[in-house]
Amino acid sequence: MKARTLLAVPLTSDQPPLLEQAHAARAGGADLIELRVDCIANPDAVLAFLSGPRPLPVIVTVRSVNEGGQWQGSEPDRLVLIQCLADCAPDYLDLEFQTWTALPARDKLRGPLIHSVHGWLQALWDSPAEIVKVATAADDARDEWRMLDWLRRHASQRKIAAMCFGPAGLATRVLAPKFGGHFTFGALTPDQASAPGQPTVHELRNCYRWQQIGPATRIFGVLGWPVSHSRSPAVHNAAMTHARIDGVYIPMPVRADEAALSELLEFLTARAELDVAGLSVTIPHKEHALRWLSARGMEVSERALRAGAVNTLIRMDGDTWAGDNTDVLGIQSALAAVGVSRGCTALVLGAGGMARAAVLGLTELGCRVTVCSRTARRAEALAGAMGCRWKPWTDRAAVDADLVVNATSVGMQPESNASPLPASALHPGTTVVDAVYTPPMTQLLRNAQRAGCRIVPGTEVFLAQAAAQFQCWHGCSAPLDVMRTALEA
Ligand code: NAP
Repeated sequence: MKARTLLAVPLTSDQPPLLEQAHAARAGGADLIELRVDCIANPDAVLAFLSGPRPLPVIVTVRSVNEGGQWQGSEPDRLVLIQCLADCAPDYLDLEFQTWTALPARDKLRGPLIHSVHGWLQALWDSPAEIVKVATAADDARDEWRMLDWLRRHASQRKIAAMCFGPAGLATRVLAPKFGGHFTFGALTPDQASAPGQPTVHELRNCYRWQQIGPATRIFGVLGWPVSHSRSPAVHNAAMTHARIDGVYIPMPVRADEAALSELLEFLTARAELDVAGLSVTIPHKEHALRWLSARGMEVSERALRAGAVNTLIRMDGDTWAGDNTDVLGIQSALAAVGVSRGCTALVLGAGGMARAAVLGLTELGCRVTVCSRTARRAEALAGAMGCRWKPWTDRAAVDADLVVNATSVGMQPESNASPLPASALHPGTTVVDAVYTPPMTQLLRNAQRAGCRIVPGTEVFLAQAAAQFQCWHGCSAPLDVMRTALEA
């Protein structure tokens, strides 16, 4: 059986002292430390550390600027320093394949070697390195999945560490234990990350439950552009941990064009061994996902068809997926929780994806809906498609409604002082739902509370749609309180 994946913590500065940092890494659960000598820029401190007792096995790396490192000296000086550090018997010496071939005394190097390939890939099987490390930049999730698939196919043959840089490389770092990676890197703090996109040890352990990930772990995630701000990983990972489900949920940025989403979905569909079992879909890919499923004759729920958008993909047997829309359910459950009556009058602000889901959810509840949107033709088109009324944006304050739903992005960070409706249009007894959930308490909701309205924050809508996704993927009800705590943390 293959050994478990090791956690390596890079040390990139000599402050606090290296020994102190090494002890902190061990206390945090690290198996190895990597001395990034190019970043530390104090070879004497490194040599002193290597000559004393070491709390953990050590990788020594002197990365050149060309290879993504910070070595400021000349190339001959770098080679001399590498030779000198090798004489201190580090547990591993991380050498780019090209550097190793350039070292005059390479046959006399002591200790196991890690050969790195940064930025290009070639067969390294004939090199004497104990570990082959492959690191490339990822443009989007398509690159990280190609890397993970390569790791999956080769991990039984050699010790491999395979990872992608950047925000689109997170899956390669988190999923190393799933696909047999020999180690992955986690920084002690965000400032100490030695490569772009490197997670912290805290994130790996607490958000992604890294220690529990293994070959049987099923994978879930969110596809969108951008997705790094998404709270869904925190919420779904906490819920799966609570429900003792062997799964992990990861943000996967996919470039905004439809072809990018299609290419990734084709790749994952053709490789059931990658175990991607469920995906959330967010801006701008909800309509793309619906078209992708429809073009392949795959199942799309009636609700998603009427909403014109898919926000949930569920892996069925073999190479098929089904699509659903839980945004509609999110609005409906959030309204049910505050006891909104069937057949009320409702004003929906906006005419985008969320507005469409809100209009659909409200008309299903028998509400009489008026849509107001900044772009009149979008309001008119939405009202025409859903069989409701529309009014120009300038008339929104005069619409008489028991319920107001803000489905625009007005009020979202960083413009959190903006409101889509003047405070004078809010009256006691009205229910105000804001789809915006960053921040949870928007200017619109503050004004509504002051005016004596009942308020429903976007976080409640978000949680209700996430709970519905959880049910779709796992077939059991979601631990809503656990999800709420994770969202608020
Ligand atoms: P979308 O499809 O891009 O639609 C955005 C809507 O906002 C459009 O109608 C747009 O009008 C309008 N808008 C943007 N800026 C405006 C401004 N300054 N004044 C007036 N109208 C403006 O986005 P979406 O997916 O519907 O998302 C809308 C909001 O809902 C976002 O804040 C999103 O985060 C939130 N959301 C929340 C949840 C949840 O679970 N709580 C789920 C999904 C979305 P134009 O057509 O004129 O540009």
